[in-house]
Formats: sequence, structure tokens, C-alpha cells
Amino acid sequence: MASEASWPLWIEQQLVRRGIRDRRVLAAMAAIPREGFVPPQEQQHVGEDAPLPIGCGQTISQPYINALSLEALELKGSERVLDVGTGSGYQAALLSCLAAEVHTIEVHADLLDRARTNIAVHHRAPVHCHLGDGRLGWPDAAPYEGIVVGAWAKEPPPALLEQLAPGGRLVIPLGSESWQTLVCLRKLPSGAFEREELEKVRFVPLVRPAARR
Ligand code: SAH
Repeated sequence: MASEASWPLWIEQQLVRRGIRDRRVLAAMAAIPREGFVPPQEQQHVGEDAPLPIGCGQTISQPYINALSLEALELKGSERVLDVGTGSGYQAALLSCLAAEVHTIEVHADLLDRARTNIAVHHRAPVHCHLGDGRLGWPDAAPYEGIVVGAWAKEPPPALLEQLAPGGRLVIPLGSESWQTLVCLRKLPSGAFEREELEKVRFVPLVRPAARR
């Protein structure tokens, strides 16, 4: 694992200086190259601390938001986790450095195909890619110790809350089209949820597949 002194400059500038402290998260960000998940026409912008288009009107997140979401999950390495909204596959690949088993679900078949190819080149723990409606989670592999959602919703989808293991965490942007807050919900042993607000954010929406054009 890279030592703090040897973090690449972008990690120091975009993540460490903005408060990302989890060394495993920083090491994952150093290990998985973002350029492996960005389309050819966007490669010139890959080092920028900004979201980038990945096709189908979707975006790969700003790296700081990837890192903030991953840090909030507090993974130790033994967990099974779910990534909702595979997009480019970058977040799923990062998760594969932090957990033992990753499931990722995407509604666009063509994005999922590309993500599969990208993940095959860059991953650590196994990553299982599924086509479907992420609002319903992936019950076959539940429960999950961590769930991260890369698209905003008004409320946390009930299936995701249900598929969370006791003590597990769900990180999801909640709000409306114009404003969202990245929220971490921790499932207590009683089944109740503790809520922490992480950051104001802008994400693409978590869509109902039937409503897609
Ligand atoms: N985490 C991704 C970026 C997510 S962009 C990355 O690292 O690149 C949000 C993604 O969520 C898009 O690919 C979009 O198609 C997908 N999405 C939106 N609604 C969805 C749904 N109901 N089920 C599954 N995926 C969905």
C-alpha cells in the first residue's frame, strides 16, 4: 500500500487537502486509474476534479465525491457491498479494493457492457455486474454491509434499506432535481436508521426504467 509521502499529487490536492483521511480509500484511488473508465474523447479532462460525460446522458462522478462516499462506508475488507448505478464502473472497481465481494447494477445495457470491459481490466475482489432496476437492489446476494448509490432519489428506496445488514451503511444523494445532499444512513441493530449529512452535491437521477426514453 502506498505511504502518505508517496500519494500522487492529485490525490494530495483533490482528496487529502479536502479532508479524505481513510488510508484504504486513498490507496484504492491511487490503485484504480480513472482513465480506464473515461471515454476517449474525455481523456484530456481525466485529471480534473469534475464529473465527465460517459455516454447515454450519464456522468462519472467527481473523484472527491467517489472518495467521500467510499470513506463514509467505513469498509474493512471483509464485506459484501452493492453499487447502484454502475455507469463507467469506476466506483465498483474502487469498491473492489475495499471489500471482499462487489455487486453492481445498471439500467442501461450499453453502459453496463462497457463497464464490464473496464472492470475486467481494473479490479481486485470479484465484481458481479447486473442489468436491472437498482431501486430494487439485488436481493439474491443480500444482505450488504455497504450500499452506495450514484444517482439521486427523493427518498431512500425501501428495498435498499431492507437489503442492508444490521450495522451496514447506505450512502445516497437525496433531494430534488435542483439540490441534493449526500447522506449516509446507518442501520442500527434495532432496524432504525442513524442519518449523517455529508455534502451538498449534484447527481443524475435514479430513474424508473419504465419512464426512460
Ligand atoms: N458510479 C458511476 C456513475 C454513476 S452515474 C461511475 O463510477 O461511473 C449514475 C448511473 O446510474 C448511470 O449510469 C445511470 O444509468 C444509472 N441509473 C439511473 N437510474 C438507475 C436505476 N433505476 N437502476 C440502475 N441504474 C440506474
